Amino acid sequence: MKVIKFGGSSLADAVQIKKVCSIILSDSERRLVVVSAPGKRFKTDDKVTDLLIALAEAALSGKDTEPTLEKVIDRYDSIAKDLSMTGSFKEELRADLTERLASSRSNKNRFMDLLKAAGEDNSAKLVAAYLKSIGENAEYINPREAGLVLSDEFGNAQVLPKSYNKLARLARKDSIMIFPGFFGYSETGEVVTFSRGGSDVTGAILAAAVNAEVYENFTDVDSVFAADPRIVENPTPIPMFSYEEMRELSYAGFNVLHEEALAPVYHKGITVNIKNTNNPDSPGTLIVPTHSLTKEHKKYKVVGIAADKGFMTLHVEKYMMNREIGFGRRLLQILEDEGISYEHTPSGIDSISVIIREKYYNEELFDRIIKTIYSELSVDNVKTDFDQAIVMIVGNGMTHSIGTLATATKALADANININMINQGSSEVSIMFGIDAQDAKASVKALYDAFFA
Ligand code: ASP
Repeated sequence: MKVIKFGGSSLADAVQIKKVCSIILSDSERRLVVVSAPGKRFKTDDKVTDLLIALAEAALSGKDTEPTLEKVIDRYDSIAKDLSMTGSFKEELRADLTERLASSRSNKNRFMDLLKAAGEDNSAKLVAAYLKSIGENAEYINPREAGLVLSDEFGNAQVLPKSYNKLARLARKDSIMIFPGFFGYSETGEVVTFSRGGSDVTGAILAAAVNAEVYENFTDVDSVFAADPRIVENPTPIPMFSYEEMRELSYAGFNVLHEEALAPVYHKGITVNIKNTNNPDSPGTLIVPTHSLTKEHKKYKVVGIAADKGFMTLHVEKYMMNREIGFGRRLLQILEDEGISYEHTPSGIDSISVIIREKYYNEELFDRIIKTIYSELSVDNVKTDFDQAIVMIVGNGMTHSIGTLATATKALADANININMINQGSSEVSIMFGIDAQDAKASVKALYDAFFA
């Protein structure tokens, strides 16, 4: 069977939902379907998830929830009407949202997740009801009953391994199953969501659980491009990526798949096919294990270029650092004790830089961390740099090929972009440059021109 996931733009209105249903019905293997919440119909439109976040925030701050609640209800209601659905969908939706809003607000993150999850949950109910209304054997699947158990990290959950065996039972059903993306249940029965864009993760978990022939991920582009089309005009479409390439590019801000969506399918070697709801006959882009890459793909040295902002660097200097056993571990321990995850640690003989996501920063916390570094590690100097970005060139073909770095650094130099850091992992799938955030777009353009123009 195939697991098939549709993103928000594919659920945005009745026209899109009809396309979704005809894609599902055109292939009898497409039986397990994951849906997102309705996304934007036009550029300035609201995503339902954003409305739900606003709704939860209004409730938490004691503001009037009515206008936003009505907006959400209207959004689904107009879809249901345009699909000529009769029945009590609107009343059920109102009751569902009202019940969620009435639940305890003592844990804000828990309340927020409960509201956010309503987007996908009602989307799945709507699509299942529509398919039934046109005579199809479809059913809404409740993630709790199906056994999708997640860690209790609200807004950033991870799947617990025990989910897989339970979810595998879905393969035995003969209906078209409509499964809401983005959320599951903790062991204590609370609704928990993945991080934003997490319906991709739901699809990948289900694909791994039922050992799907393929995981089809439908979005609104014909294929994945070598660079962000909002930065580079008409970038080259890439028909195939390895898991590693896509993982690195997603990490660096490629907006194609959720960063964590490949992990569940990686070990099973299930192919992911990114396809276009608005042009389903186009073959799309495949994401495959390295050993399945085609000859054409191997011709590329670099297959993608991406940049992401929102990083900071903590520079630590100590004369004779290289002679000190355990220095790096103790430094990272200080961060670990404060619950901070680090990204990279480029180092010199007497210095080490720790690259951290800026979202972890707050002044009080970092004052404390820096004091601890001085006192516990007797260092000479600690300083922080903000507004950093990383730009990455990615490609399995870089392995053992000569001159990639030279081409990249020349391109950045010609564009007058200062490189603060260079990092190449031993896998040689990517080279990462630390640059100032203001240079992020220009660096993608310069590197794209150097490798693809
Ligand atoms: N609707 C959620 C979001 O906007 C999850 C998703 O679409 O994958 O983040």
